Amino acid sequence: MYGIDLGTTNSVISIIDNDGKPRVIENKNGGRITPSAIFTKDNKEFVIGENAKKKYGMDPTHTILSIKRLMGANEKIKIDEIEYSPEELSAKILRKMVDDANEKLGINYNQVVITVPAYFDDNQRNATKKAGEIAGLEVLRIINEPTAAALAYGLDQREPRTICVYDLGGGTFDVSILTIGENICEVNSTAGNTRLGGDDFDEILSKWIIDIFERDSGVLISNQTVAISRIREAAENAKKQLSESNEADIIIPFITQDENGPVNLELNIKRSEFEEMISEKVQETIECVKNAIEDSKINKSDISEILLVGGSTRTPLVQKSIEEFFGKTPNRNLNPDEVVSIGAAIQSGIINGSIENIILADVTPLTDRKSTRLNSSHGKLT
Ligand code: AMP
Repeated sequence: MYGIDLGTTNSVISIIDNDGKPRVIENKNGGRITPSAIFTKDNKEFVIGENAKKKYGMDPTHTILSIKRLMGANEKIKIDEIEYSPEELSAKILRKMVDDANEKLGINYNQVVITVPAYFDDNQRNATKKAGEIAGLEVLRIINEPTAAALAYGLDQREPRTICVYDLGGGTFDVSILTIGENICEVNSTAGNTRLGGDDFDEILSKWIIDIFERDSGVLISNQTVAISRIREAAENAKKQLSESNEADIIIPFITQDENGPVNLELNIKRSEFEEMISEKVQETIECVKNAIEDSKINKSDISEILLVGGSTRTPLVQKSIEEFFGKTPNRNLNPDEVVSIGAAIQSGIINGSIENIILADVTPLTDRKSTRLNSSHGKLT
């Protein structure tokens, strides 16, 4: 039995090992996270993951990103004259995750627990289940991502408490206030923005790089697709580096050429400069946190723990802003990319009995959810 975090940007699959401990299973290329990217041309082979993501810059019409945004929507995606439902395309990702894991472990499991955002409605949950079925999988349960995170942290086994799960990924942000303990988990409120995430940080940094390059070199590159996609990649790398160090070098050899020959791009950025650029976006997430707390009718001071989920919570300014807001250090002991998938695996272990002493977690029916505030522009693919 597997636990799968089927993410907008990346997906992760985990299993409970024989020793009862959860473990992420690497994909065929050795990656612990698999981009939720799909590439297909002439409707022959479907390429999923890192290689599909790389195709986006070169062949965007045959590359599908962020299909999760369309789950539950009555929309079709046309690729080379053939129409696919979001469920069918998500099924390709799920199948690839399970196939890679089975191959790696030399087994043939097809039972899964899949996570969804707490704000997903019935339609979106059913679509996710259907995606699993199309992939030939038996979907044992759909559980909320924040609940999975809480499970991974073992919070269900302690005394009841109210927690905040702050999830900032590549393209989406959501925050949930949960009451958890004594084997139940209630989602009190959720808020977020389905168009806010680390991709925005990359975009802002890319624009900064382009502006400086054009100003200093006098060469215009904003209309050069390949140059722009290389800058995007360099921006994401620099962003990640700035999570570890106080400055980063951005070097792209032969980014373009002018009448004198090849032109290189070479810049340095300080963490403080980057933080200034993204501060408005980070503040937007804090406003959502305020909304979620207000809707939950729970006092901020009664929130005993803040869990960080999603790759973008590695950004120091994000951590600092949350800490300032709550007056508490958020818990980031577990890998923010993997915590949801680990929680899904734990849920699968609870279901099949390989993890004892836990009766049940989550299964928060939609009607129990007190409030959801989302700024979303549901529908468009990136
Ligand atoms: P997720 O959707 O949770 O997989 O998160 C993906 C996002 O996390 C992407 O925007 C990544 O660029 C971002 N990310 C990954 N590692 C880091 C890091 N070390 N610092 C800042 N952002 C990161």
